[in-house]
Amino acid sequence: MHDTPKKMQYSLDMFRCGALVTDKQRRIIYANSYFLEELKWPLDELIGKAIDEIFNRPSKIFCESYLMPLLMHNKKCEEIQLSLLDGEGVKIPVIVNAHMDSNETIYWSIFNATNRSKLYQELVDARTKLEAQAEVLESLSSTDDLTGLMNKREMTIRAPLLLEQSQRFKHSISVLMIDIDFFKKINDNHGHLEGDRVLKEFGRCLTEFGRQSDLISRFGGEEFLLMLPDTNSEGANVCAKRVHDLVTKIRVANGSITVSIGICVTDGTQAYETICQRADEALYQAKNSGRNRTVFFK
Ligand code: GH3
Ligand code: MG
Ligand code: MG
Repeated sequence: MHDTPKKMQYSLDMFRCGALVTDKQRRIIYANSYFLEELKWPLDELIGKAIDEIFNRPSKIFCESYLMPLLMHNKKCEEIQLSLLDGEGVKIPVIVNAHMDSNETIYWSIFNATNRSKLYQELVDARTKLEAQAEVLESLSSTDDLTGLMNKREMTIRAPLLLEQSQRFKHSISVLMIDIDFFKKINDNHGHLEGDRVLKEFGRCLTEFGRQSDLISRFGGEEFLLMLPDTNSEGANVCAKRVHDLVTKIRVANGSITVSIGICVTDGTQAYETICQRADEALYQAKNSGRNRTVFFK
């Protein structure tokens, strides 16, 4: 049944990992040929050495302060990552398993982890790259390409939070729906690129005059939605006037553009959709009563 002679043909020298045995004084009393062949340690140099001498300094400290106490206590340790020095002093990352018998003889198995460290680094790099890509995607999905302003989707997410805040602090919040007058004519007469330039400039205008807490979005083609927290109708009127003023600086051919503005002032208790509808209704009135003006929803 037991094929003892055949078993004797196997030896630890056949294993592609390091095998060491240390005595009670932690001196190496056995090393398999892996140390000679792969780690370039002459075996006679290795025998008699203290185990921690084959590690680099940080691993040596780790060995003394953590690994040995763990071995004394648990009689074994697994998957400890250390750095070993080969016979030429080159640092090799290794994974160490060890167990201790009742005579405090320790049996060490040591696995080269160079590829594992490389793989880990590759994983870290890949994760960093993915995170950066996710950040770009996230900003793409929340901003408008042309103007760099928040897009309608992002506004839909952020606006309800702002409304909630206004309600809690009992502040008014003003919502301005702004639409460029006769914008189609700019495209028709001067080309789509000129239209784009105007949109970009208008977007820049809006970001320059606003407060940090304002939400400024491109809502649609040539329509922009502003939410101004802690702003009552008086404040909203001042802002609207400034917008009318600022757009005169945006020149197209020999003229300048104008905008129409619809405003809804709220205490934050109405739904975002309702407020948008009301601002839009006011905007419609501004358009119908001659454009280049502001109308408040009543
Ligand atoms: P109104 O005074 O009534 O607002 O007239 P309008 O011409 O501004 O309004 P209308 O809605 O008829 O036209 C808006 C135009 O905006 C139509 C569309 O082609 C154009 N537009 C929408 N998005 C863009 C864009 O990203 N770039 C450019 N250049 N034009 C755009
Ligand atoms: Mg429009
Ligand atoms: Mg328009």
